[in-house]
Amino acid sequence: MEVQQIFHMNWGNGETSYACNSILQKLVINMAKPVVIGSISDLYTTNLPRCLRIADLGCSSGPNTLLVISEIIEAIDETCHELKLSTPEFQVFLNDLPSNDFNNIFKTLPAFYEQLKKEKGEKFGPCSITGLPGSFYDRLFPSNSIDFFHSSNSVHWLSQVPSMIENNKGNIYLARTNPPSVVKAYLEQFQKDFSLFLSLRAKEITSGGRMVLTLVGRRSEDPFGKESYPWEQLSKSLNDLASKGFIEEAKLDSFNMPYYISSRKELEGIICAEGSFYLDQFEIFDVNWDASDDDADNKECTFNRFITAQKVAQYVRAVIESLLACHFGDVVMDVLFNRYMEYVTDHLSKEEGKLTSIVISLRGK
Ligand code: SAH
Repeated sequence: MEVQQIFHMNWGNGETSYACNSILQKLVINMAKPVVIGSISDLYTTNLPRCLRIADLGCSSGPNTLLVISEIIEAIDETCHELKLSTPEFQVFLNDLPSNDFNNIFKTLPAFYEQLKKEKGEKFGPCSITGLPGSFYDRLFPSNSIDFFHSSNSVHWLSQVPSMIENNKGNIYLARTNPPSVVKAYLEQFQKDFSLFLSLRAKEITSGGRMVLTLVGRRSEDPFGKESYPWEQLSKSLNDLASKGFIEEAKLDSFNMPYYISSRKELEGIICAEGSFYLDQFEIFDVNWDASDDDADNKECTFNRFITAQKVAQYVRAVIESLLACHFGDVVMDVLFNRYMEYVTDHLSKEEGKLTSIVISLRGK
């Protein structure tokens, strides 16, 4: 089945849901906030649109979904106060794949509107928020209609698993044992997808419009950097399950992640070659796998390592379970993620766990 038909973050608000397991992504959003606020404020004060049209691509469902939108509204409201202007109207589009849990978002909207009214008064807005199911690798909006595009933790997901990687045996992502053809196929798929993404948004963005994207990244040009560690450990866990007969080896060989961790050079190369956007800002930063794990004593403690590993396993499960369960079956998920947790605990006894992200701020030409 096609990735884009089945892929979704875990639904609802339960123990394994994305809503309850997206604190790492929230930290990434917090780190990128100054770039987002800088870009939207600049756009607003330059163009002063009467209605600000904003699209969040890959919004998922949970506390992060409306976080950036509320930060943007807050920043524009403050700017308007400083400049003694009345606030604009807001039209917000929340986009994700059709299997995203949009209903869960819609249920939170009345409280969100109510809060806005309470904090900003009756004169504020109006602000309308709409869900937009569809792939960001397709056209989503009419030409020249969106002032500001935002996307966090999403555009590293490819439109499909790269083709011609049948020889990626025993791995689910890039690994040092890969033949060069696998590395090439992954990079080419990312180049194709990201370039398409830029060219589609270039058609949809208004003149002078902006776009801020946050995605996983790597600091070095080595495609096997430690940033891909979580997927290596998931490969190992799946291999263990195959050797114990829980899953078929052939099934493992045919599973690959539609995901790519890019470097600065690769991103700059694609943006430059595609040619629709100026790259205004580029930043790279790390967040700890466990936000609370930032004092040295904590890391010495086996129990804390175990707790962090448990959280990491939950984060990864909330993100990737839909694809794994569809391929290997629901029944092996608990045993898989228990094994995964053991590998992560072991890793944390040797080194810190970090998630590296890149934030780029783009301006339409
Ligand atoms: N922005 C949120 C969610 C990130 S999770 C946050 O920062 O927490 C990544 C999201 O991207 C998922 O909900 C996934 O369904 C979505 N996604 C992946 N590929 C997509 C595509 N081609 N089109 C639209 N959404 C996509």
